[in-house]
Amino acid sequence: MSDASYKCLYCAATDLAEIEGFSRLVRVTSDCQPFRAGGRLFVCKACGGVQKRCDASQQAETQEIYRNYKIYHQSGGVEQAVMDSASGAPLRRSQVLAEHLVRQADLPAQGHLIDIGCGNGAMLDAFGRIRADWRLWGFEIDQTHKDRLAGLPRFQKLFTGNLDAIDIDVDLLTLIHSLEHFPDPVSMLIGLRRRLRQGGRLFAEVPDASLNIFDLCVADHVAHFSQASVTRVLRRAGYVIDDISTQWVSKELSVVASLAPADHALPEPSPDPERVSIVQRQVDWLGGVVELARNVAKSQKPFGIFGTSIAATWLFSQIRESVSFFVDEDPSRSGGTYHGLAVLRPFEVPSGSDVFMAFVPAIARPIVSRLGLASVSWHVPAKIEKAS
Ligand SMILES: [Zn+2]
Repeated sequence: MSDASYKCLYCAATDLAEIEGFSRLVRVTSDCQPFRAGGRLFVCKACGGVQKRCDASQQAETQEIYRNYKIYHQSGGVEQAVMDSASGAPLRRSQVLAEHLVRQADLPAQGHLIDIGCGNGAMLDAFGRIRADWRLWGFEIDQTHKDRLAGLPRFQKLFTGNLDAIDIDVDLLTLIHSLEHFPDPVSMLIGLRRRLRQGGRLFAEVPDASLNIFDLCVADHVAHFSQASVTRVLRRAGYVIDDISTQWVSKELSVVASLAPADHALPEPSPDPERVSIVQRQVDWLGGVVELARNVAKSQKPFGIFGTSIAATWLFSQIRESVSFFVDEDPSRSGGTYHGLAVLRPFEVPSGSDVFMAFVPAIARPIVSRLGLASVSWHVPAKIEKAS
């Protein structure tokens, strides 16, 4: 469907293809609450960028979600853990990001950092522990976490409402899982340029939606980034990419950028003609995951879902009557309850149970191999079909 009043978030072309069947998919919010079906998903025919369209319905839904937002409610406000790729040990995501960032970006011993979309301060806290001589600032849509932020060492001020409210210049701008929420990321990043000192860095962490297909179901994510589209957005906004990695946190893109010189060339168009059919197959696959889980649950054995985040919540909301327990390796999640059900550590799962891995196959299989618990049937979603 083509509608000239809507432009691609990434390249500003007006020819967007709508993905069929997406509106029938149940969704989930970025703070892991089930959310009704009825969204729309588009792929730009010019650049292949995957995106929502910020029409009146999308805006109203986003406001509804933000009014009820509860960050990391599964673990009492503690952010999720990521599993260290070597040891499998749980580490806080912000700590992993801050350590990589300090190693990768050539940051001065002293400086000013503002975290855009700072939530309850996980990134500011993690960065401040590594760089004790930096002053910390935050931006959020509201004041919900003002007191908690004020308790962080060297925290200066929380700016709220509009990004224009920010009146300080910084050496480092961070956007941890916030860029994908903005209805116009290019304009937003252009606006932030004037706050970045010469030689300063921008760091953005976003879901890699080309790998983590469940990201498409997140109702308040407007941009569903790939390496190509996040690069395009930053370059169009006048930044150069210093480093882009998929290795810092699995299923996520970590991007370090700097202000581009004045003679910076805008990115050339690079069409991705296969993308519409790839995303169509991904949306069909999501429907198939629910069907597969329903079939597994028919065995009448104890049935659990592995995970307590986006994909697990999304799946649970559609088969909740079949689910007896959740499974999670993150110690801030296991031992408690989620949606009224116990969250078990993997080795606590009763023998003979069925556990459905709420992950894409490439993530699920290594977890099952690493756990090596043969007394439980671990079910991995089917592979995504390639084009014939
Ligand atoms: Zn585009």
